[in-house]
Amino acid sequence: MATLNYLNTTHIDFGSRSMVADTMKQLGIKRPMIVTDKGIVAAGILDKVREAMGNEFSPEIFDGTPENPTEEATLEALAQYKASGCDGIISLGGGSSMDLAKGLGLLATHDGDLTQFAAIEGGSALIGETTPHIAMPTTAGTGSEVSVGTVIITKDGRKLIFASQNLIPKVALCDPELTLGLPARLTAATGMDAITHCIEAVISPMDNPPAEAVGLDGLRRAFKMGYLENAVADGQDKDARYNMMMAASEGAMAFIKGLGAVHSMSHACGRIKELKLHHGTLNAVILPAVLRYNADFVGDKYDRIREAMGLPANADLADEIEALNARIGIPKNLGEMGVSMDTPGIVENAVTDVSTFTNPRPLEASDYEKLFEQAIG
Ligand SMILES: [Zn+2]
Repeated sequence: MATLNYLNTTHIDFGSRSMVADTMKQLGIKRPMIVTDKGIVAAGILDKVREAMGNEFSPEIFDGTPENPTEEATLEALAQYKASGCDGIISLGGGSSMDLAKGLGLLATHDGDLTQFAAIEGGSALIGETTPHIAMPTTAGTGSEVSVGTVIITKDGRKLIFASQNLIPKVALCDPELTLGLPARLTAATGMDAITHCIEAVISPMDNPPAEAVGLDGLRRAFKMGYLENAVADGQDKDARYNMMMAASEGAMAFIKGLGAVHSMSHACGRIKELKLHHGTLNAVILPAVLRYNADFVGDKYDRIREAMGLPANADLADEIEALNARIGIPKNLGEMGVSMDTPGIVENAVTDVSTFTNPRPLEASDYEKLFEQAIG
């Protein structure tokens, strides 16, 4: 069992879900709400966690997490949370359930409209202590279990980032067993989210060498050691599942340095409700274009990334990511995913995304236009 006391306390190992009851007692949670989605319930994963919890606790279940968390769904969870007298949150699922749970914890302890707390509105300083939250990820990608951030589509149609130390789940129980049944397509998409977090964090200009080292280790596991491809090829490969869970948490520990243009563009596409595009797939498809755009603005960081990924010194990183995408079944470009230059707001929303400010090379609307043209194909 790896126990990491870093941004929070994270336990990573097969069977770590058995710690859930003791963790609730430590945090003083008597009546938890489990925030999850219907897919997790149908896959029998909720039952596994309830079994691990024992009979001592009777959790309230909110299974209405949408594909991309919304303010509406968060308010729905809040109403149920208050009506049933809950005093703590367990998120069980991928990034969406963990992100919704963070929004719920915020609204359960703070008055007023959600949008005022958004990072872009300067709202991070308004976020104080929130509800005790235990995160139990069922994918290996987002790293939301250890991150300060949550992304929620607000009622006004914006996809906003909320960031505060007080939004980090108190404890993360990362049990790779909960990811064994994840289909290859989602394993690939979520794994590419983790790889993108590691790369964008390392090349962010913020000075934080420890976070950089953690990001490079995530790349070593996911790429050099081949664990992402192994997990896609054989979902039951326990070694691969364990190492991808570690790489995913590492990606988010690293992005305390900030993310970059890949995430700005990905968030802009992710808010197109009709298309319901997966965040990780978007990152995978967009990453090569942004790697080429940033190449002359990263100092020696591409050399260090190549080294961590086990690539020759003259390898082209963007080409390598394109080849990896092809090997694990990621679409070739945004065009294949239904995004076009006519999609309203994509450029404007990328420009105003908070991740734009930590991209190593500055970007204006005209730069994003070119990047979207390349990524759309
Ligand atoms: Zn991401």
